[in-house]
Amino acid sequence: MKQLGTFLLLVFVSTCSAQGTFKRTLMKMGSRFEITVVAADSTSANEHIETAIAEIDRIEKLISSWDEHSQTSEINRNAGLRPVQVDVELLDLIERAIGISTLTDGAFDISYASMDRIWHFDGSMKSMPTDEAIKASVAKVGYENIVLDRAAGTVYLKLKGMRIGFGAIGKGYAADRAKDLLMAKGVQSGIINASGDMNTWGKQVDGSEWKVAVTNPLEKNNAFALLPISNGAVVTSGNYEKYVEFDGKRYSHIIDPRTGYPSKGIISVTVFAPKAELADALATSVFVMGIDAGLDRINQLPKIECVIIDDQGNITKSDNIKIDKL
Ligand code: ADP
Ligand code: MG
Repeated sequence: MKQLGTFLLLVFVSTCSAQGTFKRTLMKMGSRFEITVVAADSTSANEHIETAIAEIDRIEKLISSWDEHSQTSEINRNAGLRPVQVDVELLDLIERAIGISTLTDGAFDISYASMDRIWHFDGSMKSMPTDEAIKASVAKVGYENIVLDRAAGTVYLKLKGMRIGFGAIGKGYAADRAKDLLMAKGVQSGIINASGDMNTWGKQVDGSEWKVAVTNPLEKNNAFALLPISNGAVVTSGNYEKYVEFDGKRYSHIIDPRTGYPSKGIISVTVFAPKAELADALATSVFVMGIDAGLDRINQLPKIECVIIDDQGNITKSDNIKIDKL
C-alpha cells in the first residue's frame, strides 16, 4: 500500500512537471511573431511550433504583396487587365475583407494599397505630399472595384493601377490559422502573437487563464490593465512605431481610403474579438473612423470590445468591457 502511494505520488509529480510552456520568437511577415505552446516536452513543443511556422509561411506566400510570385501580386499585376484565378482561401479572405469595408463604411479597405506610392513610413519622406497628389492617390482606391467571381474562382481589380494589400488583416488571419491548426493537432493551450495581434486558447500550466497586458504607448513600461483571455483574440494597432511627422504633427501609417490622408488624433486601438482577423481589421478601422464613430460601431457588434487611447492620453472604452485599472 505504501508502495502504491509512492508510485501514485511519482506519477502525479511526473505529469505535473512534464507539462511546460515553450516559446519561440521569430520574424515573419516583416514582424515579430511569438509562438507559445503548452506541451509535454520540448521535442513535441518544437514540432508544434514548426507546424505553426510552416502555416504562417504558407499564408505569407499567398497574401504577400512584396513576393512577386504570390497570388496577391498576380491580382495586382493584372489590375484593369483580366481576372486572376486564385485559391478559394484567398477568395474567401478577400470576400471577408470586403465585408469589413461595408461594416466600416469604407474606413477599412484592402485596396488602400495604391496609396503606398505616396506614403512611406521608412524615414524617407521629407515633406507632406501635396493636396493634389493625395487626391490623385485615392483615384484607384475603392473596394467596390474588386470583382469576385466565385464560380470561376477569380478576383479582378477593375482599375488599372489598382492594388490590394493585407497589411491590416493578414497578421490577424495568420494568427487565427496557426491557432486553429495547432488545436486540430491536439495542442491544449497556447498563444500566437503576431506583433501585438494575438489569439489564445486553453489555459496556462498552473490552470490559470492567459493574461494579456494592455499598455498605454505614452507610458510604455506601465501596463494599465491586465486582462484574462482564455480563448479569443486581442489586437493592438498603434501609430507609435510607423508614422511620419510634419510641422510637429504625427501622421499614422493608417490611411483614410476615402480622403487619402493618414489618420491622426488616436495613438492606439486595442480590439477584443473571437478572431484575430476581425480584431485586426477593426483596430485599423477605428483609427480611421475616429473615437466617436469607431466606438459607436464597435458597440453595435456582439462579442467585440475596444479600448482607444488618444494623443492626449485619454482612454475611452466600449460599453461592455470590464477593465479595472491596475
Ligand atoms: P500594425 O501593422 O501596426 O499592426 P495595422 O494592423 O493597423 O497596424 O495595419 C496597418 C497597415 O494596414 C498599414 O501599414 C497599411 O499596410 C495597411 N492600411 C493602412 N490603412 C488602411 C486602411 N484604411 N484599410 C486597410 N488597410 C490599411
Ligand atoms: Mg489592423
